[in-house]
Amino acid sequence: MKKIILTGDRPTGKLHVGHYVGSLKRRVELQNSGEYDDIYIMIADAQALTDNADNPEKVRQNIIEVALDYLACGLEPEKSTLFIQSQIPQLTELAFYYMNLVTVSRLQRNPTVKSEIKMRNFETSIPVGFFCYPISQAADITAFQATVVPVGEDQLPMLEQTKEIVRKFNSVYGETLVEPEILLPDNEACLRLPGIDGKAKMSKSLGNCIYLSEEPEEIRKKIMSMYTDPEHIRVEDPGKLEGNTVFTYLDAFCKDEYFAEFLPEYANLQELKDHYTRGGLGDVKVKKFLNNVIQTELEPIRKRRQEYQKNIDYVYEILKKGSEKAEQVAAQTLNDVKNSMKINYFQDPELIAEQKKKYQ
Ligand code: ATP
Ligand code: MG
Repeated sequence: MKKIILTGDRPTGKLHVGHYVGSLKRRVELQNSGEYDDIYIMIADAQALTDNADNPEKVRQNIIEVALDYLACGLEPEKSTLFIQSQIPQLTELAFYYMNLVTVSRLQRNPTVKSEIKMRNFETSIPVGFFCYPISQAADITAFQATVVPVGEDQLPMLEQTKEIVRKFNSVYGETLVEPEILLPDNEACLRLPGIDGKAKMSKSLGNCIYLSEEPEEIRKKIMSMYTDPEHIRVEDPGKLEGNTVFTYLDAFCKDEYFAEFLPEYANLQELKDHYTRGGLGDVKVKKFLNNVIQTELEPIRKRRQEYQKNIDYVYEILKKGSEKAEQVAAQTLNDVKNSMKINYFQDPELIAEQKKKYQ
């Protein structure tokens, strides 16, 4: 069986370091591993519209931002197909058929949808499209016969939903769709990187992000204001690591070589953590170190972005070509789906012969 990747992001803002450690970094590694037959990276504008119906301009403006962030991180159009969801009408058609295989109560139980509804204060006025987006995500994944979906932890319920739809479809209409596997980050801190406020996950919609394209000074200010251990007041106080965002970020980004470069008194992160919990290590010193680490990680990304920013025509051309290719693949799957469901009336000579016989 072919090894195929599908993943994507909503164009609701520029991408942030949570996206980077949760999914983007992995995608680039997988792309460069040469182990995959096809890689599809989708800008999920139609999904973004499900909770931004009154603000299509936000979505329209952010398509290029997400594309620039992709290219900046090292996704390459020669190796990965970058495309825009709304330009592939077959995805909507697939979702429409999958809707019949899912119950309302099953969607209501989806924990990610539940928490997103709360976060957006939808209460009882949930847009139907938003409520159904896990089904549309199943359409996106299966349209490309994806075997692997590299995403953050919040996407686990979506993958479960997709698998259920695949099983149900195949059992009702015969083997047609491929069941995908989720690929979560190995590093626990990257599963759901918290925002700089230390509260919820870093999310474009919550304004608690460090963006990949942000200027160094902005990043430094955000890091210096980050949430740590509120009871660690004086340098001598013993500090807590649990819920301490600065250490979570170090878990996500730090490599031993950064100690040699920026903080040679310690050999590795464990030594730094031990000192912090013993007491005698101030937050400012740890934050300055984290700033050096993040600046080092983000500098090449920012530079590459600046190059692509000079050639916006080329970036749109990449998305157009990618969307054309994606449409061909999705059309093939939709064709298979309609054949399996036997809603291919005009390509079904058996059906026509049967009906003729009925009236002879
Ligand atoms: P929105 O607030 O509009 O939903 P978002 O910041 O949650 O935006 P998405 O586009 O929904 O971003 O998510 C894109 C991908 O990034 C998904 O695979 C998701 O799991 C991953 N991701 C998003 N935020 C984080 C995070 N804080 N930590 C790890 N992975 C994340
Ligand atoms: Mg999200």
